[in-house]
Amino acid sequence: MHELGLCASIVDAVATRAGERSVGRVRVQVGALHHVHPEAFEQSFEVAAAGSVAEGASAELVLLPVTFRCDTCGADGQSMEQPSACPSCGSVDIELTGGDELVLELLEYRA
Ligand SMILES: [Zn+2]
Repeated sequence: MHELGLCASIVDAVATRAGERSVGRVRVQVGALHHVHPEAFEQSFEVAAAGSVAEGASAELVLLPVTFRCDTCGADGQSMEQPSACPSCGSVDIELTGGDELVLELLEYRA
Protein backbone atom coordinates (compact mmCIF):
# COMPACT_ATOMS: atom_id res chain seq x y z
CA MET A 1 0.00 0.00 0.00
CA HIS A 2 1.95 3.02 -1.22
CA GLU A 3 -0.38 5.40 0.61
CA LEU A 4 1.57 4.58 3.75
CA GLY A 5 4.80 6.03 2.38
CA LEU A 6 2.96 9.08 1.19
CA CYS A 7 1.30 9.55 4.57
CA ALA A 8 4.64 9.12 6.32
CA SER A 9 5.96 12.08 4.28
CA ILE A 10 2.88 14.10 5.18
CA VAL A 11 3.24 13.31 8.88
CA ASP A 12 6.91 14.37 8.66
CA ALA A 13 5.88 17.68 7.14
CA VAL A 14 3.17 18.13 9.77
CA ALA A 15 5.58 17.35 12.61
CA THR A 16 8.14 19.82 11.25
CA ARG A 17 5.57 22.58 11.17
CA ALA A 18 3.75 21.74 14.37
CA GLY A 19 6.77 21.35 16.61
CA GLU A 20 5.43 20.46 20.05
CA ARG A 21 1.84 21.40 19.31
CA SER A 22 -0.79 18.71 19.05
CA VAL A 23 -2.51 18.55 15.68
CA GLY A 24 -6.28 18.13 15.41
CA ARG A 25 -6.88 18.31 11.70
CA VAL A 26 -4.95 18.37 8.45
CA ARG A 27 -6.02 18.82 4.87
CA VAL A 28 -3.76 17.63 2.11
CA GLN A 29 -3.94 18.24 -1.63
CA VAL A 30 -2.74 15.25 -3.59
CA GLY A 31 -2.45 15.11 -7.36
CA ALA A 32 -4.19 12.25 -9.14
CA LEU A 33 -0.84 10.93 -10.42
CA HIS A 34 -0.18 9.62 -6.90
CA HIS A 35 -3.14 7.25 -7.34
CA VAL A 36 -4.27 7.65 -3.77
CA HIS A 37 -7.48 5.99 -2.64
CA PRO A 38 -9.34 8.05 -0.07
CA GLU A 39 -10.10 5.07 2.17
CA ALA A 40 -6.57 3.74 2.09
CA PHE A 41 -5.36 7.27 2.70
CA GLU A 42 -7.37 7.61 5.89
CA GLN A 43 -6.17 4.29 7.26
CA SER A 44 -2.58 4.96 6.28
CA PHE A 45 -2.63 8.38 7.84
CA GLU A 46 -3.82 6.90 11.09
CA VAL A 47 -0.99 4.38 11.04
CA ALA A 48 1.65 6.91 9.98
CA ALA A 49 0.50 9.44 12.58
CA ALA A 50 0.56 7.04 15.51
CA GLY A 51 3.07 8.22 18.09
CA SER A 52 3.53 11.61 16.40
CA VAL A 53 2.02 15.05 17.11
CA ALA A 54 -0.62 14.16 14.52
CA GLU A 55 -1.83 11.06 16.33
CA GLY A 56 -5.63 10.97 16.28
CA ALA A 57 -5.86 13.95 13.95
CA SER A 58 -8.48 13.83 11.24
CA ALA A 59 -7.04 13.92 7.76
CA GLU A 60 -8.88 15.28 4.78
CA LEU A 61 -7.80 14.40 1.29
CA VAL A 62 -8.35 16.79 -1.62
CA LEU A 63 -7.66 15.09 -4.93
CA LEU A 64 -6.33 17.33 -7.69
CA PRO A 65 -6.75 16.37 -11.34
CA VAL A 66 -3.92 15.69 -13.74
CA THR A 67 -3.49 18.72 -15.99
CA PHE A 68 -1.82 18.61 -19.38
CA ARG A 69 -1.11 20.56 -22.53
CA CYS A 70 -0.99 19.19 -26.03
CA ASP A 71 2.22 20.06 -27.89
CA THR A 72 0.51 19.52 -31.22
CA CYS A 73 -2.66 21.61 -31.00
CA GLY A 74 -2.00 23.55 -27.80
CA ALA A 75 -5.16 22.36 -26.04
CA ASP A 76 -5.17 22.34 -22.24
CA GLY A 77 -7.04 19.68 -20.38
CA GLN A 78 -7.50 17.91 -17.11
CA SER A 79 -8.44 14.43 -16.08
CA MET A 80 -8.47 12.21 -13.01
CA GLU A 81 -6.50 9.62 -15.00
CA GLN A 82 -3.15 10.03 -16.66
CA PRO A 83 -4.06 10.92 -20.25
CA SER A 84 -2.44 8.89 -23.00
CA ALA A 85 -3.48 11.13 -25.90
CA CYS A 86 -4.89 14.59 -26.51
CA PRO A 87 -8.70 14.47 -26.34
CA SER A 88 -8.93 17.26 -28.95
CA CYS A 89 -6.64 16.04 -31.73
CA GLY A 90 -5.54 12.56 -30.65
CA SER A 91 -1.85 13.44 -30.55
CA VAL A 92 0.26 11.53 -28.03
CA ASP A 93 2.61 14.49 -27.83
CA ILE A 94 1.23 15.82 -24.58
CA GLU A 95 3.01 17.34 -21.67
CA LEU A 96 1.80 16.91 -18.10
CA THR A 97 1.61 20.25 -16.31
CA GLY A 98 0.22 19.10 -12.97
CA GLY A 99 -1.12 16.18 -11.01
CA ASP A 100 1.88 15.21 -8.89
CA GLU A 101 1.17 17.76 -6.16
CA LEU A 102 1.56 16.90 -2.53
CA VAL A 103 0.63 19.98 -0.53
CA LEU A 104 -0.13 20.39 3.12
CA GLU A 105 -2.99 22.82 2.72
CA LEU A 106 -4.29 23.21 6.24
CA LEU A 107 -3.06 22.44 9.71
CA GLU A 108 -5.21 22.93 12.79
CA TYR A 109 -3.95 22.58 16.32
CA ARG A 110 -5.83 21.26 19.27
CA ALA A 111 -6.83 23.86 21.81
ZN1 LIG B 1 -4.04 18.15 -29.30
